[in-house]
Amino acid sequence: MKMYKLFGAAIVASMMLISCSEEEASTNASSVPETVITKLKAMGFNPDGIQKVDEGYRIERDIIITEEFLEHAGAEQVVPDLEQYSTNNLVSTGGSRLITLYAPVGGRKGYSAGMIAGLDLAIARYNAQNLEISFQRVTSSAGADIVMTRLAKGDERRGILGSAGFPTAGGDPYGEIKMSGILESSYGLSTEGIATIIAHEMGHCIGLRHTDYFNRAISCGGSASNEGDGGVGANHIPGTPTGATLNAQSYMLSCTDGSDRPFNNDDRTALGYLY
Ligand SMILES: [Zn+2]
Repeated sequence: MKMYKLFGAAIVASMMLISCSEEEASTNASSVPETVITKLKAMGFNPDGIQKVDEGYRIERDIIITEEFLEHAGAEQVVPDLEQYSTNNLVSTGGSRLITLYAPVGGRKGYSAGMIAGLDLAIARYNAQNLEISFQRVTSSAGADIVMTRLAKGDERRGILGSAGFPTAGGDPYGEIKMSGILESSYGLSTEGIATIIAHEMGHCIGLRHTDYFNRAISCGGSASNEGDGGVGANHIPGTPTGATLNAQSYMLSCTDGSDRPFNNDDRTALGYLY
């Protein structure tokens, strides 16, 4: 299965749909134990296209499910078709919590100045909401709450954007964002477009699900596909509207065209409600 991938912008959409089909066809689900697939199904996941990765399993394009998460996932819930969703596990704030984020700068395993500018803008967008959580970029990985690391070069060249997971049962943010380092150099994305993608993965780390998780065709095109509530909860956030639309341009839509998606009113409502 794919991680969060680039649609449109640099690549013709129809070409991407073709490459997606090929990727799905080549997914090797047999490397995933049957017990895991059974468990995921019982939890409400659609395990089609599940992929074994170093950290655990990857589903829903760009979401990492760790063994720790599998162990602590709650029971399946009834899920409404409404917009803006969170997982059951959220980051414990105690009223105020600073989340530090480290990304290596420069070199083959680091990020360009343009990528770092995108990260800093993503952080600024969250901090401008005056939430109980705030983010700060730090210059050492030691003790950082979230470490952003480069994807494998081959994945970056294939147009994969990034991946992340959900908060732990202990109330910590997911600790790793894998992010492409070539969004500026190869795809020509603006600082705002890069910030949108990094903010999306940060959103997963603090418990936000895809706005269109119930039908990712809304942002990705193709046939309707429900990601399921995943047993991690897909809790509708009060005050956000019914039915995701592409026009609303939530930054938590499943697919992106690489353009700028600053927090819309519903995203802000969701963040303010959760934190
Ligand atoms: Zn995502």
